[in-house]
Amino acid sequence: MSRLIDISLTISNALPVWPGDPSITLERVSDIDAGAAINMSRLDAGVHTGTHVDAPLHFIPHDLSVDELELDRFIGECQVIMLDGAGPITADELAAASIATTTERLLIKTSNSQWWQSNPETFNKDFRALHSSAARWIVERGIRLVGVDYLSVEAFEAEEHHPTHNILLGARVGVIEGLNLAQVEPGRYRLMCLPLKLKGSDGAPARAVLETLD
Ligand SMILES: [Zn+2]
Repeated sequence: MSRLIDISLTISNALPVWPGDPSITLERVSDIDAGAAINMSRLDAGVHTGTHVDAPLHFIPHDLSVDELELDRFIGECQVIMLDGAGPITADELAAASIATTTERLLIKTSNSQWWQSNPETFNKDFRALHSSAARWIVERGIRLVGVDYLSVEAFEAEEHHPTHNILLGARVGVIEGLNLAQVEPGRYRLMCLPLKLKGSDGAPARAVLETLD
């Protein structure tokens, strides 16, 4: 049995993108079946496509870009929690979620992961996301990375001035968006998530994997 669980979304033309973001085009531009010597594909997509990392530069002018992020934040032991509720994820909900005081990397599984299983091609405006109080709780708790199971840490109808993104990115908390945690039981794992090294970019797609611990 593999000790690795792939928690990445599959990038395809059918994967939903945030309304208004660039659409995804993944196409075969050279095809052996059509007489070409090689198969070759081309990808045209926004950098916040599928499972991806937000750099501070996404919301904070002149701050760190994705190629400048320290990778140790994105690799190492993590805790996956399951939040069963509905609506915005608040500080109170996190405080009640049995998050270990030693947890530095936190992945939050919600009903969003089930949405990826049942409606993988339809954007869900009602996804669960972090209220600004939860973002503040994460920073005050010294958590260095947070991962969520829909396309933004912040609700579709964001609070004014996008406080969730600004609080997390302003504190240099690593942010992974667009995880699919449907196959993951709550517990401790080793996370490996490597964003593409895109120069000067505000974000980058990433492959994210959990390894079970002995
Ligand atoms: Zn993003």
